[in-house]
Amino acid sequence: MSYTINETHDPQLTSWVESAQRPGTDFPIQNLPFGVFKRRGSAEEPRVGVAIGDQILDITACLGAGLLDGSAARAAAACAAPNLNELMALGREYWSALRRQLSALLSTDSPAYKRDPQIAGRLLAPIAGAELLLPAAIGDYTDFYASVYHATNVGSMFRPDNPLLPNYKYVPIGYHGRSSSIVVSGTPVRRPRGQSKAPDADRPGFGPTRLLDYELEVGGFIGLGNSLGQPITIDNAWEHIFGLCLVNDWSARDIQAWEYQPLGPFLAKSFATTISPWVVTLEALEPFRTSAFRRPEGDPEPLPYLFSVEDQRHGGLDLILEVYLSSQRMRDQGMEPLRLSRGSFSDMYWTLAQLVAHHSSNGCNMRPGDLIASGTVSGAAKESRGCMLELTWRGAEPIQLPTGEQRRFLEDGDEVIFRGFCERDGFARIGFGECRGVILPAIT
Ligand code: MN
Repeated sequence: MSYTINETHDPQLTSWVESAQRPGTDFPIQNLPFGVFKRRGSAEEPRVGVAIGDQILDITACLGAGLLDGSAARAAAACAAPNLNELMALGREYWSALRRQLSALLSTDSPAYKRDPQIAGRLLAPIAGAELLLPAAIGDYTDFYASVYHATNVGSMFRPDNPLLPNYKYVPIGYHGRSSSIVVSGTPVRRPRGQSKAPDADRPGFGPTRLLDYELEVGGFIGLGNSLGQPITIDNAWEHIFGLCLVNDWSARDIQAWEYQPLGPFLAKSFATTISPWVVTLEALEPFRTSAFRRPEGDPEPLPYLFSVEDQRHGGLDLILEVYLSSQRMRDQGMEPLRLSRGSFSDMYWTLAQLVAHHSSNGCNMRPGDLIASGTVSGAAKESRGCMLELTWRGAEPIQLPTGEQRRFLEDGDEVIFRGFCERDGFARIGFGECRGVILPAIT
């Protein structure tokens, strides 16, 4: 079930927060993504806010000033918390009511603002002066493998004769990730150590990974959960997703190659996962929905529990995703980060609804704040490959940096930056902000 396009999506809508009108801003009034913040260096409690231009609207302050009522006030009461879980657990009626009233409050026509422009000082905090925290207490984290291009590319490197395993077009492949090591954008990532074996070596060794990589992914936060034993159907799956963020599934390829058979990724992934701080709601994304991936002739139809006409028609998302890299030397020389790739989330073989329906199809219960990541987002074109393993074809085709440096995989001091945004004629462009992390040397 989709959201209705309403006045909150109106491209003509403007805000009294001037930076929300700045061309290229990720956070115009049509977006209103949720996050958790506190003023940097303050002793105040972390709480929920929405991004608007270069500011954060403090929802608890809005409620305290008597500016919200009804279901929106109930939803705002859930925002006086150090994570979004309580809001996520309320469901769509409450999320929508809050969005509608926050949009009205922030709009240029807001009676509350016209009455008293001084409210700006009480309701806003600059993003630049805020510490952004993990948006949710993530109980469980699952990572999928939903790009057939990524699966085929990686498969052909490791199994040239048999790149795509026979289950791929039937089963949305995933593994259970580690939630304890999920960190918010800006947190440095320590190069992990682990066990690996060079192809020509007799035996494995233990040490810092030499093949450190990023994976460009999109994460879906579960809103309403399901009871143990009660699967979420494909028709209801979208109602269980609160919103999306960017995810970097950092990966140690040498550790992964040695450990992954027969039970899948383990320590090659669990050392760190970075997510963007702002959760863009499904309602904000509604104008950018598109059809599900068009399966080529000869591919099987999804099994009935993964098939719905509505999801096929509407389950994709026109979300453009970009990866940038800056080396220490590039930063020292004042160079801008280099764009490594650009792809689209609409290229994914499985929709988010299919991932949720599959995940719960055995009765497994999803809980508010659980994170479901898509898997590396890669498209058909080389420039849309979502990890270094694919971009450099396992190191065979190094990336040239503007300093003259080369990259096969990530070096210490490298910073990886993801950006994501949606654009469509007749609607305001909305963005996800950034998901970034810099690599620290391994412990010695
Ligand atoms: Mn992954």
